[in-house]
Amino acid sequence: MSLTPMMRQYREIKSKLDDTLLMFRLGDFYELFFEDAVIASQALDITLTGRDAGEAGRVPMCGVPHHALDGYLERLIEQGFRVAICDQVEDPKAAKGLVRREIVRIVTPGTAVTEESDARYLAALAFQGDEVGLALVDVGAGDVWFGAGSAEDMRDHVARFRPREILLEGAQAFPGWLEEILNRHGAIVTRVPAPSGDAFLMHYGASSPEALGLRPGSAALSACNMGFQYLRDTQMAALRHLAPPRPLLEPGRMWLSERTVEHLELVPMGSGRERRTSLYDVIRETVTAAGSRLLRTWMLRPLVDRGAIEERLDAVTALADDLLLRAEIRESLKGMHDLSRLLAKCSIGRATPRDLLALAHAIEKGEAAIALLPADGPALFSRLTRDLPDFRPLAEHIARELVDDPPASAAEGGIFRDGVDAEIDRLRSLQSEGRSWLREFEARERERTGIKSLKIGYNKVFGYYIEVSKANLSLVPADYERKQTLAAGERFTHPELKAREADMLTAAERVVELERARFESWIHRVREQASELQRFAEVVSTIDVLAGLAELAVKRGYVRPEVTDDVGIEIREGRHPVVEASLGSEFVPNDLVLTPDAPIILLTGPNMGGKSTYMRQAALIAILAQMGSYVPARSARIGLVDRVFTRIGASDDLSRGQSTFMVEMTELAEILREASGRSLVLLDEIGRGTSTYDGLSIAEAVLEDLAERRDRPLTLFATHYHELISFSERFSCVRNQSMAVEETDTGIRFLHTVVMRPSDRSYGIQVARLAGLPDRVIRRAMEFLEAREAKPEVAAARDDRRERRRQEGQAREGGPVALDLFAAPYRDLVDWLAAQDVMRMTPL
Ligand code: ADP
Repeated sequence: MSLTPMMRQYREIKSKLDDTLLMFRLGDFYELFFEDAVIASQALDITLTGRDAGEAGRVPMCGVPHHALDGYLERLIEQGFRVAICDQVEDPKAAKGLVRREIVRIVTPGTAVTEESDARYLAALAFQGDEVGLALVDVGAGDVWFGAGSAEDMRDHVARFRPREILLEGAQAFPGWLEEILNRHGAIVTRVPAPSGDAFLMHYGASSPEALGLRPGSAALSACNMGFQYLRDTQMAALRHLAPPRPLLEPGRMWLSERTVEHLELVPMGSGRERRTSLYDVIRETVTAAGSRLLRTWMLRPLVDRGAIEERLDAVTALADDLLLRAEIRESLKGMHDLSRLLAKCSIGRATPRDLLALAHAIEKGEAAIALLPADGPALFSRLTRDLPDFRPLAEHIARELVDDPPASAAEGGIFRDGVDAEIDRLRSLQSEGRSWLREFEARERERTGIKSLKIGYNKVFGYYIEVSKANLSLVPADYERKQTLAAGERFTHPELKAREADMLTAAERVVELERARFESWIHRVREQASELQRFAEVVSTIDVLAGLAELAVKRGYVRPEVTDDVGIEIREGRHPVVEASLGSEFVPNDLVLTPDAPIILLTGPNMGGKSTYMRQAALIAILAQMGSYVPARSARIGLVDRVFTRIGASDDLSRGQSTFMVEMTELAEILREASGRSLVLLDEIGRGTSTYDGLSIAEAVLEDLAERRDRPLTLFATHYHELISFSERFSCVRNQSMAVEETDTGIRFLHTVVMRPSDRSYGIQVARLAGLPDRVIRRAMEFLEAREAKPEVAAARDDRRERRRQEGQAREGGPVALDLFAAPYRDLVDWLAAQDVMRMTPL
């Protein structure tokens, strides 16, 4: 079946693409045909039409105006499509026959550079036996990461980075864990050919993989090659702005598993109304988008090197102590465009004149912030700015050349100021002379013909014309040549007008050409310096993060933690940063002391008593301290923690298709395997997922295992099993603590105060009442409980425990760790409350 030549060209280009929509430039539109048209018209909600394709008859077609392409592309990308952009690569006027068209780039969910400030990762996975190599690239931010390890480790990284697109080699079987991640986070999988050649090394101009920190022949290197080969094939540009690759497991960083990140609610999870406030939300005081991204990286990869932590803390202290400096820095960065994103656009050839000016302004803002840093300030400031080129001349030069409000496209000219280029100036004045000649010509012709309403007009099809209304047609002179008839009159041309038109149009076209060329050379200059500018961007982001942490410290009354190389944590009046942010002054601060001699705390108390809050607060304070932030406490001494492990019931366990108990045990196994004497371990309600005796036995065995180790991790163990309380008698390293509860006539009240003794009851029924269980059920439950407790063996156990506790309490009285039931500031209040007669109070 023979197609029109153009449709044949379309078919040929389309045949080279797999699973990719083709947007085909036709005049002012990008058109899609056949299947693609049907898919895109639905995805974009645009009209499906048709086009004559030769003998095939009419084929489905739909299209979008070329100037609106980016918006439509973004919508397609969001829906997981890959889109190839096919442009006319020669001037249609110069073309003999069919205009040459080529694919100029392929936009994909993992590589698109969009306006949103969130990271957008492309992942490449390479499998070598049991080893999985992983490369991650955020084109928009210019970040590149690599790593290799077991499938389980890489699963964690992939889940953490949430790539939008995952590359797998064509024949590679689909790993089950990946399926699970795709279900949870949604990403598209793109099959690519096995990497051939060294796309990765070539990109960085490196002579060997070792130069980039990779082993020859390693799985990580293969993943990098896959990723960079794909970038080359889709972006068709050099991407000079990409920062040097960084290992996922950098020495000197704390590794937090994906589960831990979720359990501690470090970053926002869920969406819409379900979205819970995370630590990131609370501590984010950065003023730039790139700063926020870096803050997140710092939080998710805390340091384990004391020198590096102190270096950051010193900088935060300097900024926290100097209100004016901090305010000036933050002010200078406000409204700063995302430099990395602009560099990415320059690198992939998508920058507009507006972007170029935004880049100049961003550089100016960044330079202004850097200039504010005191020369005799903390070491980090000088380390950051040492050897950093001065980009002010570049920025000033751009701002001097570009008009104040440059166009959003380089296609129409009007980019540069007058006085920038002599030839552009000359052609522009030719144009403006032309315009005044037109005005004179119009006046002259009105005079000559006596047609007062005679008008000179312009359109793209006919060029300049003389318009005469119907009533005056009889007055048209003989040298006018008719071009077009309208309802209201006619349009003519004239030899003199034609000659001028040619001059003017040539001048206009030349100006656009010259401006475009000058613009391209600017982009080229930026691209040449892209990697240094990227480093500059990172320095500016670092300053933003440091100033933001200082702002946070002052705003929320955090203190500088003392970070030591010892083992142990000592927090005085610590607060949970996120819970505090919502409760304000109602939040009850608590102490926490974990020492090498007593590293295990067994935490009891009723549900809703504040156990998880207390445990999480310890981990959050350690993480904040080790990322270089101040912490919510009166004072905090943190012996460096190498890892934080958590086993806390997560609501989404079920959505992963594993039973809660299975998840719990898998996590527990990992903790027991990997926790060291420097690890902080949070265990919440171990054994809850199975029958009471099973659960209790497991909890007991775990506690015993931890307590008997030589290197006992710092452990907070919250439990319902009161049977475990006696552990503190067998092991001096285990201490009992509980959340204080006040019993009142009508039920219980949570005090949220941690006390140094076990809780005597679980108050389950009282909590159930608070939760609104019907009175009749509560009454029956009480009866059942009384009946149970009346059984001699149960009662004996209980009395035994109470007695022991009483003795313990006496023994500790006056000791250094003894805490009163109520923290001192509240004691007066409690006494006062106790003295009130509720029955005789009025609502007022
Ligand atoms: P548990 O783990 O014992 O069931 P949570 O830690 O979930 O209890 O705390 C229950 C609620 O109590 C929290 O949602 C919070 O509002 C409140 N809470 C917890 N700790 C404190 C505190 N220290 N000060 C004030 N309110 C607290």
